[in-house]
Amino acid sequence: MKNIAILGSTGSIGIQTLDVIRQFQNRFRAVALSTNTKIDILEKEIEEFRVRKVAVANEEKYEELVERARKGKGKALKECEILKGAKGLEEIAVCEEADTIVTSFVGAMGIVPTLKAIEAGKNIALANKETLVSAGEVVMSAVEKNGVNLMPIDSEHSAIFQCIHGEKKKNISKIIITASGGAFRDYTREQLKNVKAGEALKHPTWNMGDKITIDSATLMNKGLEVIEAHWLYSVPYERIDTIMHPQSIVHSLVEFVDGSVIAQLGLPDMRLPIQYALSYPERLENNELKRLDLKEKNNLTFRALDTELFPCLKYAYEAGKKGGTLPSAMNAANEVAVNAFLKDKIGFYEVAKTIRKVMDKHRNKTKPSISQILDADKEARKEAEKIINGL
Ligand code: MG
Repeated sequence: MKNIAILGSTGSIGIQTLDVIRQFQNRFRAVALSTNTKIDILEKEIEEFRVRKVAVANEEKYEELVERARKGKGKALKECEILKGAKGLEEIAVCEEADTIVTSFVGAMGIVPTLKAIEAGKNIALANKETLVSAGEVVMSAVEKNGVNLMPIDSEHSAIFQCIHGEKKKNISKIIITASGGAFRDYTREQLKNVKAGEALKHPTWNMGDKITIDSATLMNKGLEVIEAHWLYSVPYERIDTIMHPQSIVHSLVEFVDGSVIAQLGLPDMRLPIQYALSYPERLENNELKRLDLKEKNNLTFRALDTELFPCLKYAYEAGKKGGTLPSAMNAANEVAVNAFLKDKIGFYEVAKTIRKVMDKHRNKTKPSISQILDADKEARKEAEKIINGL
């Protein structure tokens, strides 16, 4: 039995992780959950999975849930320990009952709890890519030092993991990460000027949370994934390639030194990489997941991504190559800009513009400590707000 704590159980990945746990109750058990604000969903999850420990990051929502526990009828909620704020999240990350932590919340707020979990010897199933983007070196050296397992939940990285499984690292010549291209992949520059967040949220192939869906449309998601792949598989940026594959069937490919290319395929359903991250090294039979039929999906296409129209991908390569605190600053600027775009405060191109300006202003520190990384994040957020307010 694997005991699992989920940081961010009320978001898209968290909910799908609980789907997997529900389906394999003889293997997985949810022991601790957390949310930022969505206490209605959290309450249902507590009752269904009989969870004994949860954290609510937002303090008002925390008070509300405590009040509900006091007054309400839910037996499990009454008996549940409810923790508050960022400290509460950290407690979930190190909670004794859990052996695996699923980090499925969005953004750089994942850095500290993920590091604490690793230091406490927990295995990590990582969906929070921003943590590796901002603090890749620190996180990977903590993984090594503490001898824990870090399994990717991101579909592309799960694919890469499966492609290189059993292969020697020196035999990898290139990683090729596929991208759906997001909601605006066929738009012209003129059209992109006036798009609104609502349109970007209609992702053609994947069903995901708001932030990552916008990141998909700007191609920043692919950029973040390039940096994530660099840290997970220690492959230099020059040997990480990206390609548009609108059907999202081939989840990524790896080219080996002899020219052989191995790919992983499947229908786009996040429950598959989630399940694999939890069950590895085993594979669990799952007839609920629809099977890929290539007679039906017989039109797989690939083409180059346009980094002139979607410059965020370029910026991420640049930040990754320069390293230091720059990826953290870039990521923070992106979080602020995406948030503003989601609220229709800025246009599509202003997302990239904001990031560019923050990156240009950033004073990079090499070999940063975790506190320098967090400082860079904080400063970049302030700078991005300033830029957006001045637009
Ligand atoms: Mg992905």
